[in-house]
Formats: sequence, C-alpha cells, structure tokens
Amino acid sequence: MRHVVEEIHRLKGTGTAGDVQTWLARARARCEQRGVRLTPLRAAVLGVLLLREKKFVTAYELVDRLREHDQIVPPMTVYRVLDFLIAQGLVHRLDTVNGYVPVRDVQDSGRYLVAICIRCAKVRQVDTTILGEPLDEELGRAGFTCDSSIVEVRAICDSCRS
Ligand SMILES: [Zn+2]
Repeated sequence: MRHVVEEIHRLKGTGTAGDVQTWLARARARCEQRGVRLTPLRAAVLGVLLLREKKFVTAYELVDRLREHDQIVPPMTVYRVLDFLIAQGLVHRLDTVNGYVPVRDVQDSGRYLVAICIRCAKVRQVDTTILGEPLDEELGRAGFTCDSSIVEVRAICDSCRS
C-alpha cells in the first residue's frame, strides 16, 4: 500500500518533502499537546493538503488522491477528518469554494483576506491592513458586524489570466 505519508518520505531530500515533514511533525506535536491523536489517516489528509502547495483542495479531490494511494476512504470519513483538523487549528475551510488549505498557507490569527483563483485553485493571503477599521466602519454603516476572521475573494490569478 502506497501511503501518502510514504510518498512524502520518498520525496525526502527535496525542499517540498522536508517542509511537509516539518509541518506534519508540528501538527503531531500540537495534537499531543491537546491530548488528541494525529492518526495515519488524519496525517495522510493533512499531507495531501500540504503537498498541494498553496492550492485549495476539495473533499472529493481528497477522496480521489487517497484512492490513488490505495486508500479507499468514504467522503463522510474525509469530512470527519477535516472537521478534526479544523478543530485543531491545522486546516482552514474556504467557504466560497468549498475547499480546504493547511494553516501554513494562511495566517491563523487576526482577520485576513484570502484571494482564491477560481481557475487553478491557487490561494494567496493578501495584506490585511485594508481590513481593519475601514471595513468595520462600512459594515457598521450598513448595519452589520464582521463575524469572520477570513474574508475570501474569488479571483483569477495572473498566470491564469495571461
Ligand atoms: Zn490561477
């Protein structure tokens, strides 16, 4: 059985693999601190997200990627694993595209703006200074209070536009 985590080990020596392994080790330590376990399946799902370098992944893409590695995992189970990873602060859900990214790719504190390319799934965090008081003031004028730390913008990236 070719496990995703084994694939990461096979890539050892390349920059990506080292980075992914570092983040998986961090995730494992965080889970231990919180008294929960990063099981092989949870690590595999997080591994797929980390390998996708700054691109979001949908739950069904995760099911497909795991199947390529001979891991047949029903979508419901993948959703449960994603809920776990979100609860541990390891993964973000991008509501506008029904996608997931590891917190490595977006900051996990404060309010921030995320540009999401709807063609290639690229995700970029954007300077958040424009989201401070001006946004709150405008929202307040319209009779709203911001309820989310993430402001998602559906966009098209430069490489997809050219
Ligand atoms: Zn793009």
